[in-house]
Amino acid sequence: MTPYDAASAQGPRPLIDSFGRTVTYLRLSVTDRCDLRCVYCMAEHMVFLPKAEVLTLEELGRIASAFVGLGTRKLRITGGEPLVRKGVMGLFQSLSRHLQSGALDELTLTTNGTRLAEFAGQLAEVGVRRINVSLDTLKPDLFRTLTRGGDIAKVLAGIEAAQAAGLRVKVNAVALKDDNAAELPDLIRWAHGRGVDVTLIETMPMGEVEADRTDQYLSLTALRAELESFWTMTDLPLSTGGPARYVEVAETGGRLGFITPLSHNFCEACNRVRLTCTGTLHTCLGQEDAADLRAVLRNGASDAELIDAIRLAVDAKPKGHDFHIARASPPAVARHMSTTGG
Ligand code: SAM
Ligand code: SF4
Repeated sequence: MTPYDAASAQGPRPLIDSFGRTVTYLRLSVTDRCDLRCVYCMAEHMVFLPKAEVLTLEELGRIASAFVGLGTRKLRITGGEPLVRKGVMGLFQSLSRHLQSGALDELTLTTNGTRLAEFAGQLAEVGVRRINVSLDTLKPDLFRTLTRGGDIAKVLAGIEAAQAAGLRVKVNAVALKDDNAAELPDLIRWAHGRGVDVTLIETMPMGEVEADRTDQYLSLTALRAELESFWTMTDLPLSTGGPARYVEVAETGGRLGFITPLSHNFCEACNRVRLTCTGTLHTCLGQEDAADLRAVLRNGASDAELIDAIRLAVDAKPKGHDFHIARASPPAVARHMSTTGG
């Protein structure tokens, strides 16, 4: 048993920020690398981080476990593409002890699905129950264009393998005005027909990419109104403390979520923080605030010092973001989503 496991058994003081919000959810990015280059996420020729800057799997595990010891109930592994990180299953395996001890409610991941066919069985074995798969279109050509070269067949095979392994799948789709807006009802029908929930995401101004994101921005408020012209949607009380609002679609029998960081303010109930693969803790997706936990670790911090550094960072969690999409304005935050972890 590590000191963190012991701390959670004794019930430590929870992580509460200066606005009274309790942090119970950590998103952990395990790599900035990816086998795709989605147009809204990455530049075509991304320069990836040198290996020495990226936390080892042991370092990532140590920080994640410290959070669990401080009351984090949900861990989402993300990236870049988490399943391209060598040895990532070892991290899942190690973190699964917190599921077994009851300290953690959920261990999950967000993936582009290209390697799911290979990993679905192992994920289910270590206690992962639900996963998010990002998929913006069902059209192979458009998929190839949006991901700059990806093969949709791998993702579809990955989703099938995940379901066969007993994992519950949710599809995340970024709503893009010109590219997939017209196809979204078909994508939703397809997913619901397979028992897969869907969450639609507005494009967020994170990191410089080649395209002008204002051209692709589609307000989900407008999209929802359009979907309601032919579907009956009932609000679900389900709240994850995050920016998603869910409805049930009567005609398809499935759940549909809307993540609207730009047209809806969700910060009052925010329960989450993000750790980059370099050990930078971001307590707000839309602000530049950051705490360098890698430096803390690599300076030989004790467990108690690491916990102090985490508390200090959470204490400074900003009240909210101020995302806005203005034509030709620089991104609200300079880092890419692939660095922060979506
Ligand atoms: N590679 C994995 C994937 O694609 O699921 C995990 C990391 S990815 C950064 C996480 C999520 O962020 C994906 O669903 C992706 O569509 C979304 N995303 C990336 N850039 C975005 C942006 N600028 N605005 C909104 N969502 C974005
Ligand atoms: Fe890779 Fe995910 Fe970013 Fe697409 S959204 S480039 S799959 S990290």
